[in-house]
Amino acid sequence: MVRLRAKCVLAGDSTVGKSALAHVFRSESAHFLKNYTLTTGVEVFVNPIPIPDTSDSVELFLFDSSGKEIFYDMVESQWDLAGALCLVYDITNMDSFNSCAKWLERTRAQAPSGQLAGVLVGNKTDLASRRCVESAQAQEWAASQGLEYYETSAKEMDNCDAPLQSLARAFHRMYEEKLEHIRSIV
Ligand code: GDP
Ligand code: MG
Repeated sequence: MVRLRAKCVLAGDSTVGKSALAHVFRSESAHFLKNYTLTTGVEVFVNPIPIPDTSDSVELFLFDSSGKEIFYDMVESQWDLAGALCLVYDITNMDSFNSCAKWLERTRAQAPSGQLAGVLVGNKTDLASRRCVESAQAQEWAASQGLEYYETSAKEMDNCDAPLQSLARAFHRMYEEKLEHIRSIV
């Protein structure tokens, strides 16, 4: 039985719904442990997720930056050594989708050895009539970047669990691959 810990950064433009998603994650988790403010403007949520077909679990430490941060004003320490990325855009806002490449690049640059488990989340599916970004387009870009793609509505609490479950599994897979690699060279 292994309990892994992953630092997971919530990234994306302002107002796409990162904080709303973080609060749904928090309230949906029966195993919620703690929630505290680490540094001004950054909230951390701990969310232990069991990995199916194993006795292992992954604790995702979710870092949500509050406030209206501008891209280049992000606190560097928040990005340091992130092992997982939840990249969020708003399906009614094309600019927020176009920003995703920048957010991804930035997080990758800070990740240890470039290893990063990641998901792309299209939020606000309840505003379907105002959709600007087609699912297929987002899906295609996500796949090209090695990210799983999910759509959610934080407002209606729809599908909000799925991205985190996926991240936990991806992080666990990364860990197992690392173990196998080590076994193969010793
Ligand atoms: P952040 O800046 O990325 O953290 O975004 P917030 O979580 O603060 O949300 C910005 C605004 O979008 C708020 O008014 C939220 O109520 C709203 N919002 C967040 N998620 C959803 C959603 O799924 N659907 C709708 N309709 N509004 C949402
Ligand atoms: Mg926020």
